Amino acid sequence: MKLIEGAPIAEAVYQECLASFEELKAAGHLPGLAVVLVGDDPASRAYVGSKERKCQELGMHSVKIEKSADTTQEELHAVIDELNADESIHGILVQLPLPKHLNEDEVILRIDPAKDVDGLHPINLGKLAMDDPTGFAPCTPSGCQRMLIESGIETSGQNVVIVGRSLLVGKSLALLMMGKGAGGNATVTVAHSRTRDLKAVTSEADILVAAIGIPKFIGPDHVKEGAVVIDVGINRIEDPTAKRGSRLVGDVDFEAVAEKCSAITPVPGGVGKMTIAMLMANTIRACRMKVGM
Ligand code: NAD
Repeated sequence: MKLIEGAPIAEAVYQECLASFEELKAAGHLPGLAVVLVGDDPASRAYVGSKERKCQELGMHSVKIEKSADTTQEELHAVIDELNADESIHGILVQLPLPKHLNEDEVILRIDPAKDVDGLHPINLGKLAMDDPTGFAPCTPSGCQRMLIESGIETSGQNVVIVGRSLLVGKSLALLMMGKGAGGNATVTVAHSRTRDLKAVTSEADILVAAIGIPKFIGPDHVKEGAVVIDVGINRIEDPTAKRGSRLVGDVDFEAVAEKCSAITPVPGGVGKMTIAMLMANTIRACRMKVGM
């Protein structure tokens, strides 16, 4: 069984980003990312913090805009309008989820698609569906695909089963993997909460992706002998033996499934490492496209 770790693959993406960044800088361009955080959800704050740190490490221009939990839709739109007009900003990311009273779709629609480095604007999702490489694909699914490519796992003609149909992960990954590029050309099935006999469906997978949000949901009975398993899930569970009283686990029962598969991603240390790397790559590409390099 091969362990597909995120860190070395994310590092390769960062090295590409650095090379591209240096080229841009030499030509007088500094890529800039703005991250908008509304409210004080601790997990969102932690994610925003790591994105900011990564920007700083790469030497990118980074702006963090924090708004209180009672920010109105209009106020948030005004923030986006300002960032859309700001020449120093090439990527805008609004950290989701937003507080319940705000309409996320309206906020995403407001972002200039050329700066939508999270890849959630309908223009970018449309480009993804059209195999148009000028769009931005969402970061977590792009990260999963990159892990498969870098690990030398053939996707062309393979049966891929993705459990989970969210736009952020499952549905977008399905589009990427049925697309025609590297890491694509797969025969993709998307399973979800209404799927009949899930185990029968997932047992057909050469590559099984879990993006469900239920700790250790995928067990050995879901997995074909020799399959590749990509675990997107990040779930915090109580563990009195852990230092913090809790720990992170995926949507896959790692210990039980690892014995059966040919390759698997761990949690933590797997897909989670890729998301920010792909965000940086998208931001640098947004800058390149803006300046025509
Ligand atoms: P979501 O809640 O939006 O979607 C979950 C999906 O799972 C739904 O489509 C639902 O139909 C499906 N599902 C739920 N119960 C099911 C069941 N019993 N059988 C089959 N399908 C079922 O979640 P999401 O945003 O797609 O996230 C999924 C997981 O990935 C979560 O654990 C989340 O924390 C994690 N995640 C990780 C990253 C990362 O960077 N690694 C990024 C985003 C999300």
